[in-house]
Amino acid sequence: MDKVLTGIKQTELRPCSLCRVAVSHAGHPIFYRASLEVCGLNIAAIRRQAGLELMLGGNVRLANAMGPDEDMAKVIERKSEIWICVPCLMEGRLADLLAILGHT
Ligand SMILES: [Zn+2]
Repeated sequence: MDKVLTGIKQTELRPCSLCRVAVSHAGHPIFYRASLEVCGLNIAAIRRQAGLELMLGGNVRLANAMGPDEDMAKVIERKSEIWICVPCLMEGRLADLLAILGHT
């Protein structure tokens, strides 16, 4: 399913999370925005779906159509959003990005 792409208003623009200046400071017409979500698998739902698949002879598509269409995973936590300018992305500052997201 496609998600609706949304525009970003001037008041919503944020500086680069790494160099702290405008994401367009180097003259590049693009920038990157990313967020990290921590997700947990719904083991009970996965087992139920796997059982249904077995009952239907291993036909995954049929089981998907016949099943309750449960969530197989849920977002547990949404980490902070990061904005990255092209120069910072090109420098490959992955460790800095992970520190901003609280994963170091
Ligand atoms: Zn930057």
